[in-house]
Amino acid sequence: NQLFDMAYAENFILRIGDAGGTKSMFKEVVLGGDVWDLLDELMIYMRNPMQYYEKEVPFVRGVLLSGPPGTGKTLFARTLAKKSGMPFVFASGAEFTDGEKSGAAKINEIFSIARRNAPSFIFVDEIDAIAGRHARKDPRRRSTFQALMAQLDGDKEKVGVDRFSLGQAFIFICATNRPDELDIEFVRPGRIDRRLYIGLPDAKQRIQIFGVHSTGKQLAEDVDFEKLVFRTVGYSGADIRNLVNEAGIMSVRKGHSKISQKDIVDVLDKQLLEGMGVLLTEE
Ligand code: ATP
Repeated sequence: NQLFDMAYAENFILRIGDAGGTKSMFKEVVLGGDVWDLLDELMIYMRNPMQYYEKEVPFVRGVLLSGPPGTGKTLFARTLAKKSGMPFVFASGAEFTDGEKSGAAKINEIFSIARRNAPSFIFVDEIDAIAGRHARKDPRRRSTFQALMAQLDGDKEKVGVDRFSLGQAFIFICATNRPDELDIEFVRPGRIDRRLYIGLPDAKQRIQIFGVHSTGKQLAEDVDFEKLVFRTVGYSGADIRNLVNEAGIMSVRKGHSKISQKDIVDVLDKQLLEGMGVLLTEE
């Protein structure tokens, strides 16, 4: 967990190999085959960016991850950081719209950190705050948007050398829950070359995610998540983690030594009723 360049990074986290989490955060991530394929592709490129440069093959500049909240977009970036062991600059779109420093200065700063530490990655969550159609029209945010465009384009005059030399070998990854709100200029190829939708987990993935988030917890013998799979349709990974945690809280409150199937079902019932707008009063 070697930290470096923090003086420059200021409020942006830049770490090698571990992006802002404890080891257990990477215990397991359940993502579809296409997501792992992209992860592999990016890692292979970053191990030897010069080979693409020599063959004059332009590689991916930007990657856009989209999909509902809590499905693992940030987890994807963290996993890539951990697996690649490469410098990673993490930021969130909201950070560029507040604080004293201008958004454009912050954009220039994260790209400069990434270039100095190339080959490296930049991850910006909630990119719609910067590159949404509305952001571009807002005079206060326009300069942030323009700085991002300029940084992604690099120095056009020196495309050949600059873009593919090691000093420029960084990949910009961003995530949003609202891809349709993004400015069309931002998502065009050359800026965003890969788009990946990370959707809600299917039945099999939900069972696996349940396994991931119940590891280390005391589960009673009767716990069988397969039996609950139809009750978790539409649940994200984050929802399943929350379900297991809530069931744990419920079991402790009831004085049980282990989380039982009933604890989980009770939480599901409560969530269902809450979802229907029914206010529950304590018995
Ligand atoms: P948001 O759009 O709200 O930022 P996100 O897609 O980035 O959401 P994450 O922050 O990656 O979602 O997920 C939140 C937490 O939910 C993760 O830290 C993890 O504990 C759990 N989780 C989400 N998706 C998965 C998954 N596919 N496999 C395992 N755990 C998951």
